Amino acid sequence: MQLYKNQTIKVYNSLSGKKEEFKPINDGHIGMYVCGPTVYSNVHLGNCRTFMSFDMIFRYFKHLGYKVRYVRNITDAGHLVDDADEGEDKIAKKARLEQIEPMEVVQRYTVDFHNTLQKFNFLPPSIEPTATGHIIEQIEIIKEIIEKGFAYEVNGSVYFDVVEFNKTNDYGILSGRKLEDMIANTRELAAQSDKKNPQDFALWKKAEPEHIMRWPSPWGDGFPGWHLECTAMSTKYLGETFDIHGGGMDLKFPHHECEIAQAQASNGSAPVNYWLHANMLTLNGKKMSKSTDNNIYPNEIFSGDNNILSKAFSPSAVRFFMMQAHYTSILDLSNDALLASEKGYLKLMEAITSLKAVETGSKTEFDVAAWQQKCYDAMNDDFNSPILIAHLFEAVKHINLIKDGKETITKEDKELLENTLNTFAFDILGLTGVNEDANGNSEKLEEVVNLLIQLRNDARSNKDFALSDQIRDQLLAIGIQLKDGKDGTTFSAS
Ligand SMILES: [Zn+2]
Repeated sequence: MQLYKNQTIKVYNSLSGKKEEFKPINDGHIGMYVCGPTVYSNVHLGNCRTFMSFDMIFRYFKHLGYKVRYVRNITDAGHLVDDADEGEDKIAKKARLEQIEPMEVVQRYTVDFHNTLQKFNFLPPSIEPTATGHIIEQIEIIKEIIEKGFAYEVNGSVYFDVVEFNKTNDYGILSGRKLEDMIANTRELAAQSDKKNPQDFALWKKAEPEHIMRWPSPWGDGFPGWHLECTAMSTKYLGETFDIHGGGMDLKFPHHECEIAQAQASNGSAPVNYWLHANMLTLNGKKMSKSTDNNIYPNEIFSGDNNILSKAFSPSAVRFFMMQAHYTSILDLSNDALLASEKGYLKLMEAITSLKAVETGSKTEFDVAAWQQKCYDAMNDDFNSPILIAHLFEAVKHINLIKDGKETITKEDKELLENTLNTFAFDILGLTGVNEDANGNSEKLEEVVNLLIQLRNDARSNKDFALSDQIRDQLLAIGIQLKDGKDGTTFSAS
């Protein structure tokens, strides 16, 4: 039986403002969409936190046996500099400044994004679609919205008519804003604007002659509005209504509000059952910002190359730091916080390693099965990773008492404890062992050296001492020393 049948998950749904029992549309299957990065600069650590939260959620669903289709897009066109339908496309601007092709910008920062996430041990999403790969789908949705009477064309651009939509629908359903208040609080439209109302947003923008990123459409050459790509890609791969849509808190309005309006206007149904929003990461108590220099990139943490840090921190130590906060809480990064998290992470890893070697006895002094359920309960309660980590440390306490001979554990309980710790620390929180990279390379090294030890033993029993010495000497030459003892051969690597 699949594990999920025994676990009831509650999630905080931004749409209702409440924690709700999570029930997927199709039993055993989950569709999840998360807004991906706009690839015009190196990935921000705050964005890494958002994606890491959804990586943890993805990992937990998979562990429970759900078949998850996780779609996370790449925004490679349509995201304008001022986020409000005006200004240059962020990617086109970077391309102009660096005098390269927009697609070179996209390639460079997509590679950076993947490399960084790989260091943090992210699982790849099931589908990673791009905005430029779905222009036809976006045009089709625009046609649909125009036909339903919720969009209008002006001078080669198409705008979503928020006022018209709000007559029969609720624009503001997710963010809790009221259109009347938005109208009351906005200044008059700029004279050159084509919009009927300032709240209307672009579905299609006419490309000026100098604009490089352009596609033909029924309204002339142009490019899609930023909000539209997510509606096109989420509904294409997950259906008109799907289970979970995630993203950073800052995307709730206008981006996600507009996504709901577009899907509702074209399909006549709400696109998403559960909206999940991850909170932001601050640095030394202040909002991160490139302009004030209160900013740090993932690679600067891994190398220690930033003034606010006293040393370098491994990706797993940083991941552990992020997992120590609930994904809906603001998290503040500082050197002291990272040092404390690193200590906790190392303590957990040490306990997991030392558990392997402890002797077993005839009884266990703590209820391992009940402890295991507490770990599940923490994750079932809106993916409460800090509570889960507190439970993992309860196990660390017992492991250390067992190690010191002050408590005992049976063979069965030791196995259950070991499996549960491995599941939650590595499979669900996504940590890796100390000195181990995301590919588990230190583990692979061990397997390779053990294979060579085996071949050396075979050579010795065949009295081929030239070969056995060659294996030993050549391993030594690359820094791996074999030690022959009465229980066999071990090795150390330098
Ligand atoms: Zn999006």
